[in-house]
Order: sequence, then C-alpha cells, then structure tokens
Amino acid sequence: MLKFDLPTKIFLGKNCIKENTNVFSLGKKALIVTGRSSAKKNGSQSDVEAVLNSLNIDYAIFDQVKSNPDIPTVYKGAETAKAEHADFVIAIGGGSPMDAGKTIALLACQNIAPENIFSGSYQKKVLPMIHIPTTSGTGSEVTPYSILSNHKAQTKSTIATPLIFPTYALLDPAYQKDLPISITINTALDALSHNIESILSMKINPLIAQIAQSGIKQIGDCLTAMENNDLTEAVREKLQYGSLAGGIAIAHTGTNIVHSLGYSLTYFRDIDHGRANALTIAEYLNFIAKTAPEKVALILNDMKFDNISQFKAQIDRLLGKKEAFTAEELEKYTQIALKAKNINTSLRAPSESDVLSLYKNSLL
Ligand code: NAP
Ligand code: FE
Repeated sequence: MLKFDLPTKIFLGKNCIKENTNVFSLGKKALIVTGRSSAKKNGSQSDVEAVLNSLNIDYAIFDQVKSNPDIPTVYKGAETAKAEHADFVIAIGGGSPMDAGKTIALLACQNIAPENIFSGSYQKKVLPMIHIPTTSGTGSEVTPYSILSNHKAQTKSTIATPLIFPTYALLDPAYQKDLPISITINTALDALSHNIESILSMKINPLIAQIAQSGIKQIGDCLTAMENNDLTEAVREKLQYGSLAGGIAIAHTGTNIVHSLGYSLTYFRDIDHGRANALTIAEYLNFIAKTAPEKVALILNDMKFDNISQFKAQIDRLLGKKEAFTAEELEKYTQIALKAKNINTSLRAPSESDVLSLYKNSLL
C-alpha cells in the first residue's frame, strides 16, 4: 500500500521564522521548551521571542531539557505549562527539547501515570506545537515519536502517537552555523541511519523510498566535508534537508535494528544517539545484504561507494577512536535490544545470535 500521511506543515530555508510569523498565532500563550543554553546562543530563541512580542502573544520558558530527556523532566515541563496556562508549545533545539516538547504537550492536557506513559493509549487531547530544529539529525519536527530515557526499563523508550505530530516545523540552517563538528557528525549520522533503516524496513513504500534516497544522497555528499571540518552553508543546508527527509521517512516506517542496538550504548555508556547508531550501521548493511543485496547496493551507490568496506572506512574515520566494550556488556545489551519494539521490522529479522554478532562485529 502506498501511504503518505504527514499532518505537519513544513517551512525550510533561511529566515523562515521571520517570513512566516502567521504560524505563531496558534494560541494565546506559548510555552517555549529548550535545552539549557544553545537556543539562547544561536539566535533561534530571540527570533521566536521577537515574533511573539510583535504579535502580542505571551510566553513562558522551560529551558531544563538535557540530552536524552527523562520522564521526570517532561512531567516538570507539563506542570510549568499548566501553571502558566500555556495553550501551545514551541520546541526549539535538537531532538531532546523537541521530543520533550511533544510529551509536555500531551501531559499538559491529560493525566497519564508514569507507568502508562508508553502505553500508546491516550485521550485525543494535546497542545498544538511548533518545532524549530537546531541540529540536523533526529527529524523529530516531522515525526509522531517522543523518545525518553526510561530508567525503569533501563533503556530509551518511545511514545508513538499521531497526536504528537507538530502542527508546524520551521527549519532555518542559520541556527547551526556554530554547531560543533562532533555534534554535526553525530546528528548527521543519526539522520543517515533514519534514511537507511527506512529503506530497509518492511514498511517502506516507493514514495517514501524516494524521499529517503534523496536524504541519503544529500548526506552522502557531506561525508567528506565533515571529515575535513569544512562546514559551509551549502553543507549545512544539505544536512538539514537530509535530516528532514529522514524524519519524514521514519514517520512512515519507524527505525529498526540500528536504533534498537543503539539505545543501550546511549543508556549505559552515555554515547551520543547518532554516534551510537553509526557504530553498528556498516555491520547492519552487511547483515541486510544477505537478504536484499540490490537495496544495499542502491544505498551505497547513492553515497558513491562501491562496497560496504568503503562506506565503513569513511564512517570509521568520522567516528575516530571507538569506545571499548566487554563481551559481557554486549550480551546484556543483546537481551535488551531483542525487546525493542522495532527490531523485527527490517527486511531481515535478526535472531538472538544475529544481534550479538552485530554488536560483536561492530564493537569488539
Ligand atoms: P540534543 O540532545 O538535542 O542536543 C545535543 C547538544 O547539542 C546539546 O548540548 C545542545 O545544547 C546542543 N545544540 C543543539 N543545537 C545547537 C546549535 N544550533 N548550536 C550549538 N549547540 C547546539 O541532540 P540531538 O541528537 O539533536 O537529539 C537526540 C535526541 O533525539 C535523543 O534523545 C534521541 O533519542 C532523540 N531522537 C528522536 C527522534 C524522533 O523521531 N523523535 C529520532 C531520533 C532521535 P542545549 O542542551 O544547550 O540546547
Ligand atoms: Fe535517531
């Protein structure tokens, strides 16, 4: 079945906030959800505040979202939304504030006990949202997912519901001018894995495949520039497009094996989300190539690689020195990954020993 289902309206390009001020009239009072500091430094928050002031729209700020946000953080944000009588949310930042903003928007309208937060059954009530990404990685501005650190399950778990699609996504690459190279690489590799996992998902359709392929091409064009720390405006624009394409793709297909393996690397070893994915992506291609060699060849060709080894060599150069792992750690992570919701949606379902081999071949 061919399905394209994306309620979010997207504006991408320089000055898109200043040129689309009408989208901010979503309510009477906004809750701006951000991380601790980047939105203040890169100009995004002051641009939004200027627009809200010009429209006479009141706002409050919740700037306590750390990377890999957890459940207490989103309840705290929802309390702020309620106390401030906010009737819409503006999330500014990387995937962490955007994901937190989505669950805050949900919790501000309904009582959900923490133990039911990932249940998937919610009332049809949520604050409308505007998302302004300032990294090029997660695509969260166009997905129905909010990924939270789940201390009870010792992993990262996903809230997935169409209710939390933002109403608007505004993407201006200018806010990433000073994004450090390490965050640029890690987030770009997250976006690359979204596009790749989407194409290699059982849920892929030809239209979404075209979008994901276009994302792979744009990010593929930037791999050498990132290796050389040559982050021009054109590179930033391509990475932002690639991230958006990846978000649209996984909104339809979800992620699969690579993300399922990555969550433990982030949860237990504090490895950035995108880097955690990149550590296993080449082995994932080797694994899928046994079932769908033509699809893997297409992906490699989009990035102008002849084979998986060439791809792996470039990813390894981008990742630099890798973390050390023990076999015991990887056995523990295997048991956790096998329980992830999305692990069996790729074109080839992995057995327990496949998952362990993917980890071992990538990380030992
Ligand atoms: P992030 O955790 O949002 O941000 C990483 C760092 O980058 C933070 O220190 C942040 O600073 C800084 N930063 C953000 N924008 C910046 C800018 N323009 N200039 C300088 N520094 C900037 O990282 P992320 O990789 O974008 O998001 C990762 C999260 O998204 C993970 O929790 C992951 O699981 C999730 N994710 C969600 C989806 C989805 O579909 N919803 C998909 C994939 C991943 P501040 O803290 O000061 O802002
Ligand atoms: Fe991701």
